[in-house]
Amino acid sequence: MEKLYKYDTHVHDKLCSACSSSLPEEMVDAYVKAGYSGIVFTNHFFLGNTAVDRKLPWADFVTAYWNSYLRAKAYAAEHHPDFDVLFGIEHHYGGGKEVLTYGIDLDFLLAHPNLHEYSIKEYCDAVHAAGGYISHAHPFRNRPYIDMSYPLNPELWDAAEVYNHYNNPGADDEAEALAKEWDLGRTSGGDEHHANSEGIGKSGIAFPYPVHTEREFVEALRRRDGKCILNGVVED
Ligand SMILES: [Zn+2]
Ligand SMILES: [Zn+2]
Repeated sequence: MEKLYKYDTHVHDKLCSACSSSLPEEMVDAYVKAGYSGIVFTNHFFLGNTAVDRKLPWADFVTAYWNSYLRAKAYAAEHHPDFDVLFGIEHHYGGGKEVLTYGIDLDFLLAHPNLHEYSIKEYCDAVHAAGGYISHAHPFRNRPYIDMSYPLNPELWDAAEVYNHYNNPGADDEAEALAKEWDLGRTSGGDEHHANSEGIGKSGIAFPYPVHTEREFVEALRRRDGKCILNGVVED
């Protein structure tokens, strides 16, 4: 059987997400134990449930995200050298809606102060101009904190998160239908916030080759070389 390399595309830590209870190192350990090749940290950003002080100057605010990522990366390099830690953010653009953003780095964040004031179109354009990739997080999740009348703009995205471990199945089905309608890429994410969660190992993307950098991850997504992991099973 072909070897697959699994990556969770949607992971939080408590240094940057107020709803998480785990350190970045603890999340790394949990995914190593689950047999994954890597994870992408996608912490809640400025308008989301950030654990970083919004009153900080912009450069300090965004550097806190980068430092948490670097800390996890250094930990993995020392203890689990085959495990890749990648950078991303989960950007809240209004109405409780969030986009997972991949392939951007600290320089991008420093060069775009007050990113949270951009319209979703301006945001997606800036990310794309930098070579980044956008997957809408749980587009049809229906929770009290989300305004379901807030418009979705699939024409601006590269992908939709078609499986989120904490969605109800109906919300995932709607995301699959939207991805099909708009010929979008598809991502699966654990949206994991806790290293002891039962959901760890049930979501993500499996590639036929390892991806070691944000750039390689985005290229693999663009080529649609990955298969989604749906409730612990790699799709056909
Ligand atoms: Zn959260
Ligand atoms: Zn999330």
